[in-house]
Amino acid sequence: MTQRTFLIAGNWKLNKGAADSCELAGLVAKAASGATKVEVVVSPPFTALAAVAQSLEEAHSGVQVAAQNLYPKDSGAFTGEISAPMIVASGAKWVILGHSERRQYFAESDAFIREKVTAAIQGGLRPIACVGETLEEREAGKTLDVVFRQLDAVSDLFKANPGYGVIAYEPVWAIGTGKVATPEQAQEVHAAIRARLVEKAGADVAEKTQILYGGSVKGSNANELLRSKDIDGALVGGASLLPDDFAQIIQAAQALSA
Ligand code: PEP
Repeated sequence: MTQRTFLIAGNWKLNKGAADSCELAGLVAKAASGATKVEVVVSPPFTALAAVAQSLEEAHSGVQVAAQNLYPKDSGAFTGEISAPMIVASGAKWVILGHSERRQYFAESDAFIREKVTAAIQGGLRPIACVGETLEEREAGKTLDVVFRQLDAVSDLFKANPGYGVIAYEPVWAIGTGKVATPEQAQEVHAAIRARLVEKAGADVAEKTQILYGGSVKGSNANELLRSKDIDGALVGGASLLPDDFAQIIQAAQALSA
């Protein structure tokens, strides 16, 4: 019997200012109100973090807030950056790190992402560390080489507090493309990630770490993905901006938890 609860996280990316974010967060809170067995997280842009965290707190919704990035210094001459303590002060409890868009458009390396995951954990933020291969890498048979390289850069950091850190497997070819991985393709990589965690961080960490799938998850395909043994939730981009679709994903997780 697994000790893991489902985690459904919405990544709103570069969408929605504070007012629109609060409105969407209110709809997510409503959708999550009956889903007592599911952890729900929303990730608005930095400028909306505090307002969304406050509105969810006041509504006693249980929905938590994630930042989409951080800079691995607490303060200093780093124009334009936001630190873990600032995110914590906003009321957020989570942070998404190493998203493929950060790796691709902002040239974030495994080493830099490791620094960020370290700063998150030290600062009191639960990291959702993203890993995943491109289509070219998959077709070259390098999926696990790439995923393990990205995972190994952070997995030992999860040892101090098993279950605190989360991994999101997000095949780059499935993000925002409508091309979802089949449940078999996803489960195969999730099982490999869990086995690698046993090796690199120990059995307790592997058993307690939630491994999310991300890549074109929608209300209509959530059930078949979440049924897989090693898929412990979803990191959702596009569909997290659509309240009915996101609600369906939360409901699929709740139904499988009952
Ligand atoms: C994401 O960007 O994390 C993501 C999974 O996006 P989408 O659901 O739109 O594919």
